[in-house]
Amino acid sequence: MTTAPKTHPTSKQTSDDGLAPYATRESQSRGRLVSEPAPNTRSEFQRDRDRIVHSGAFRRLEYKTQVFVNHEGDMFRTRLTHSIEVAQISRSIARVLNLNEVLSETIALAHDLGHTPFGHAGQDILNECMNDYGGFEHNLQSLRIIDELEEKYADFNGLNLTFETREGILKHCSNSNAKKLGELGQRFLEKRQPGLEAQLTNIADEIAYNNHDIDDGLRAGLISIDDLCSVKLFKQQHKAVMKKYPKLPEKRAIHEIIRRMINAQVSDFLQTSTQTLLKAAPQSREDVTQQQQPLVGFSDEMRAMNQELKQFLRRNLYRHYRVHRMTAKAAIIIRSLFDAFLNDPLLLPPEQQQHLHSLEEKDPDTGSARGIADYIAGMTDRYAIREYERIFNATELT
Ligand code: MG
Repeated sequence: MTTAPKTHPTSKQTSDDGLAPYATRESQSRGRLVSEPAPNTRSEFQRDRDRIVHSGAFRRLEYKTQVFVNHEGDMFRTRLTHSIEVAQISRSIARVLNLNEVLSETIALAHDLGHTPFGHAGQDILNECMNDYGGFEHNLQSLRIIDELEEKYADFNGLNLTFETREGILKHCSNSNAKKLGELGQRFLEKRQPGLEAQLTNIADEIAYNNHDIDDGLRAGLISIDDLCSVKLFKQQHKAVMKKYPKLPEKRAIHEIIRRMINAQVSDFLQTSTQTLLKAAPQSREDVTQQQQPLVGFSDEMRAMNQELKQFLRRNLYRHYRVHRMTAKAAIIIRSLFDAFLNDPLLLPPEQQQHLHSLEEKDPDTGSARGIADYIAGMTDRYAIREYERIFNATELT
């Protein structure tokens, strides 16, 4: 039996149905830098999300890390799994608050695209290298990737995403950089807020990394349950789990505690944000963006507990000597690569040399340094290590 071929729906799909009045509506989107016909089978924000998933920068997140270096073990989070966790938390929150779920997911999936190899250590050292050339900021780099660096589409550079996605990706920005960004930078100069979808994704990011760093830190043996019991947020859930399941094997207990910590944070966030939104009663997205402060967030108590957890992680995990050794190596690798390429751009692969030339033409003072920063920032952890070997190890093949 033959079946008739399916036809694509002709009406434009949107994700606007059932949204709160202050949610971001794609029917009110400020659109894309290059105008394109509306998609037939999906919404505009879905198209943004799909372009991010198909980008090269997104795929490279698989081999980039935040705390642990990629080859240290298969069980550790990478920036890819982190981004997926942030998307999961963002979507759950957006749905409950009747905000735009697809836009939150899109921003979450893209939020770490501009990160360098070797986590925060990589970003700090690349920023130092770029000190005389306008600095380096991973947030701005994410924007650079989606606006310029991805070369996939015939009609435009970058991914040509909607204003609302781009706004959500740019979490912070200095005034001097904001001045160069036109409409997108305006909110930083006027001290306004982004839409609620961007605001909530920011918190979802924090919830995700604090909790998975505990999980990864325990697995690596860098921190212990006893140490963590000095942190109120952990201790509360540890006590509850041990009381209910005194014989639970440690691995399962850790997962159960972390699951409950995420739940406690999300529940607090939802409750506090619902109250704040009720009180502020914004009538539109415009009302939200005019505020001096975000309209979603944790209660004071949860914020204080989160702060305590962050301090614990900084002291005991991020500054652990084993993590610090890797951080120190990362700094050497990135600094050495940057200096080598700046002194002798002919060491770069041909397409990177071309990229440098085109940036130099636009800006002779900083163009080549920016091109090198683009190249290094795009590297995965293992690619950066290999590139270092290829350039500095005499016995290594090029
Ligand atoms: Mg993140």
